[in-house]
Amino acid sequence: MSDQEPLPLAPRRKTRQILVGKVPVGGDAPITVQSMTKTDTRDVEATVNQIYAYANAGCEIVRVSVPTKKAGEVFDQICDRSPIPVVADIHFDYRLALVAADAGAACLRINPGNIGGQDRVRAVVDKAGSKGIPIRIGVNGGSLEKDLLDKFGTATPEAMVESALRHIETLERESFYDIKISLKASDVIRTVQAYRLLAKQVDYPFHLGITEAGTPFGGTIRSSVGMGILLAEGLGDTIRVSLTGDGEDECRVGHEMLRSLALRSGGFRMVSCPSCGRVQIDLNRVANEIEEGLKQINHENITYAVMGCVVNGPGEAKDADLGVAGGAGEGLIYRKGELIRKVKEEDLVPAFLEEARKVKAEADAA
Ligand code: SF4
Repeated sequence: MSDQEPLPLAPRRKTRQILVGKVPVGGDAPITVQSMTKTDTRDVEATVNQIYAYANAGCEIVRVSVPTKKAGEVFDQICDRSPIPVVADIHFDYRLALVAADAGAACLRINPGNIGGQDRVRAVVDKAGSKGIPIRIGVNGGSLEKDLLDKFGTATPEAMVESALRHIETLERESFYDIKISLKASDVIRTVQAYRLLAKQVDYPFHLGITEAGTPFGGTIRSSVGMGILLAEGLGDTIRVSLTGDGEDECRVGHEMLRSLALRSGGFRMVSCPSCGRVQIDLNRVANEIEEGLKQINHENITYAVMGCVVNGPGEAKDADLGVAGGAGEGLIYRKGELIRKVKEEDLVPAFLEEARKVKAEADAA
């Protein structure tokens, strides 16, 4: 499996490149994974700790909301201590955008059409320009302008695109082009349609997301389906999976999504079967424990397989760099197709992880 050619995807949309801190977004830059903190921003310690946890889970850009003056007052400490670029999420109050930019924000998420006039837009744009930080326009299907809802009846993809174009024009009027855009609806179809429509009209990089996607189960599915369609069509320069759950999981899901389309490498891939009536070991336990152990070993760009039985198991286990196929209360461990060990079920997890550590040590020494 590890030697398979990647699936043919549509060529990536040509976008201009912006810099969020030191992280390039758009153009030929790798598609990045983002998340957003869920702490009270005024609690610097909790927020910074959460950012570190996200970064360890693969987060490359983090968004932090700056909803109040008090949050603005401590935002510089968060930016200073963050290991990854921080995007300030601002709604309506342009003064908070100015504060956040001075505090070290690497990007401002603000909708310029909603901040109360072109003078304020100019103030934000001047500040962002002088600091060299981009602005992310974030259109959300749930908070579209009233006149657009009146015109289109509801938050249609066309209404979302018109809203985005208005915000873009507001910035372009001030000769500001350091922009990225998100167009999020809470359902997959509208989101996909909106991004497709806007892709025909502008070359700014896209931040992809399905907003309010849901709990980890449903949210992962909706995000993967929606963003998977767009990514396969070559759309998307940075992604955020929104889950009612841990931000670390958002990052892991985001990376797995990109890896499954061969758009990013890194990390490991673990193939495991769903098990069925043929299984004769406790496959759920074995697979979960192996996966947890592999996270610690952290061998990048490698494929493991954990299979329940000898029907399909040996084939997959052999295709992987390291694999196991279950038998009657035992498991066969294969390395690059060669059977290397036969162990009892109770020894399977430690034996597999021992082999995985050996493979990593040999790769590191090579
Ligand atoms: Fe069932 Fe074996 Fe296939 Fe797993 S590998 S799903 S146990 S037949």
